[in-house]
Amino acid sequence: MKFSTADLTILRIRCQKCGQHSEKLVILLVRKDAMPCSNCGSRINLATPTNKLLISETAASCARVGEALMKATKLLAVIAFSASVAYAVPVRAQALKKEPDPKQLSCGEKVLVENNTCPAGQILEVTGSCLDTRPAIDTVLRGIQYHCVKWK
Ligand SMILES: [Zn+2]
Repeated sequence: MKFSTADLTILRIRCQKCGQHSEKLVILLVRKDAMPCSNCGSRINLATPTNKLLISETAASCARVGEALMKATKLLAVIAFSASVAYAVPVRAQALKKEPDPKQLSCGEKVLVENNTCPAGQILEVTGSCLDTRPAIDTVLRGIQYHCVKWK
């Protein structure tokens, strides 16, 4: 994919005869060695060292701007993507003071219980029983599970 602001950048070239500036798109000047003056109509030599440098420098900087724009666009896409991912990550569950009724927990649902069952820095994680659930695929059915997990 080619992306360049050179397509849209206008360069002002000074006519050696009348001293007026003629404007042309850089992209139209890159491969030319002359252009007509829009004021007096005389041929402006683009092959002079100054004009050559001006055209190639402008075209090159346009290409760089184009590249930077591409990068910025990609970066924005990445930011937008990670933002949507961040939203998909659930907020850390709040710890309960008491273990909930096992029937309140759905299969695989995890709750944290702060009931001093676990050593310092850890908290009891209760995973809902799947014994009452009839799985669609053949999985090992598990009852309610208790684990100590790192906390704070
Ligand atoms: Zn002129």
